[in-house]
This record gives sequence, structure tokens and C-alpha cells, in this order.
Amino acid sequence: VPALPPYNLPKNAPRVDQRPDEFRKAIHNKGLNVTWEQSAVCPCGRSSAAFDNGSAFGFDPAASLRTTGESRTDCALCHGHGYVYHSPTPTTVLINGRSSDPKRFEPQGEMGHGSVGITFLPENPPSFMDRVTLVDSAVPYRQIATRAAGTTSAMRYGVVRRAMKLGTGDTTIGVLYGLRANASGVVTSDDVLTEGVDFTVTTGGLIDWTLGIANGKAPAVGSRFSLTYFAHPRYVLTSVPFSQRDTWILHKHPTAVYVELPIRTSGRLEYLGGVING
Ligand SMILES: [Zn+2]
Repeated sequence: VPALPPYNLPKNAPRVDQRPDEFRKAIHNKGLNVTWEQSAVCPCGRSSAAFDNGSAFGFDPAASLRTTGESRTDCALCHGHGYVYHSPTPTTVLINGRSSDPKRFEPQGEMGHGSVGITFLPENPPSFMDRVTLVDSAVPYRQIATRAAGTTSAMRYGVVRRAMKLGTGDTTIGVLYGLRANASGVVTSDDVLTEGVDFTVTTGGLIDWTLGIANGKAPAVGSRFSLTYFAHPRYVLTSVPFSQRDTWILHKHPTAVYVELPIRTSGRLEYLGGVING
């Protein structure tokens, strides 16, 4: 194969350079505060010997060093998800292109979509499956949970008490609506749960049933209840980020320097699976 060197013009001036500080100012001035958690792949897996069924699966179970390639559903770290999250970092990102496309009647249900564009500072390089939680925003989230033993219940997301200015004055609400079922799964109109009457929200975002235990309205241990509560929206990065915006800048430099520019990717609301408060 012959070498194919590129042709450069003998004269390359004038030139126009990017101004990286302008991107940085935009992120600082208009960005939103988030917690950015990086993802890592979990090495858990099951040995093929665990599936020894007289080679019925078409591989040699004696070669027990093999793994199936599947995450373990009993993995204490990733819970079968395959990814673990580490290094939570408070930072600022630009969020744009917010869209909602619920596709209610498709198999994934009402929460399958809802995506945003996210632009990171170059020193926060995002990666596929990282997650980003908007710490100053709160959106309603609905969830069915089972009351475990103890006076508090952890929901999937920490419950956020949202301050709101209303016609009747300022108020702070964490849970918009709650219902409990009895042990048989039956619900009546008497089973509505009210914040401040039947439970409270702790500063850590847990449901505290002390009031409901006293007035008899707390769901029984082992019974189900549902809450519509405010939570910080969390997005999972579903596209592989690109960094092709990096550039060479000559302006105010004797020779051109390589400069990393912000990185844009897209994320989806993390409503598709996950771990309680994980
Ligand atoms: Zn794992």
C-alpha cells in the first residue's frame, strides 16, 4: 500500500479559532447542578459448571473456568444489572433538547422514553451508562412498594420535599398521593395515605411511618402501598459520548495548541430498571 500523505495548502491564513472559555462560561452560567456517577462493568458471572446438566447445554461443564457472560442476579454490587456506579461527583452540565415521548401503548409502558441532551465539561468525561441526577429539580414519580419491617421505608428514589408558592401560601410537599393495600391486595377509598397525617418524609428522603403506626393507617408489614412523590430526575447516558469537538487553537499562542472542548451526549430517564436508592 503506498503512503498517502495529505495535501496541505502552502498558505493557511487567515484562520478562525474556537473560544473554549465561551463554552465554559455557558456551562457555568446556564448549567444545572448534578451528581455525576461513573459506571463500571461488574465482573460477576456464573461458572458454566453451575449449569451442569450432563452437557445438555452444549458445552463442557468440566471446563469450569468458563462463565456464562451473564451477570449474577444475586450479585451484591450490581444486583444483576451488570454495571456498578462509583465516584459520585458534584458538577455542572448543560441540559438541552428535553423531550417526552411516552409511547404509552407500547410494551415498555409509560416511562420508556424521556430523553435529554447533556453537555459535560471536558474534565468530566462521561461514558456509556453513567448516570446524572439533577439535584435542584424534582419531578413526580409513581411507585408501588412493599412495606418492610421497621418504621421507615426507602423508595426507589429518595423523596424530595419540594417548596412551592401557591395561592394559599408557601408550602412544601414531598408526596402528592398515597394508597395502601391490605394483605390480600384489596384497596378501598379509606386507604388514602396523607403526608403529615399518616407518615412523614425524613430529611434523608425516607418514608417514616411513625404517625401511621399510631393511627392505624400505616400499611401492614409485607403489604403493598403506592406513592406519587417528588424525586430528583435521574438520567442514564444511552449514547456513546463523542469528543470530536476537540480543536487546535492558534489565537494568542505562538504555535497551535490542542484544546479539549465540552462533550455532548444524550441521556434517558432512568425508569427502566435499577436498584432501590442504588
Ligand atoms: Zn455484579
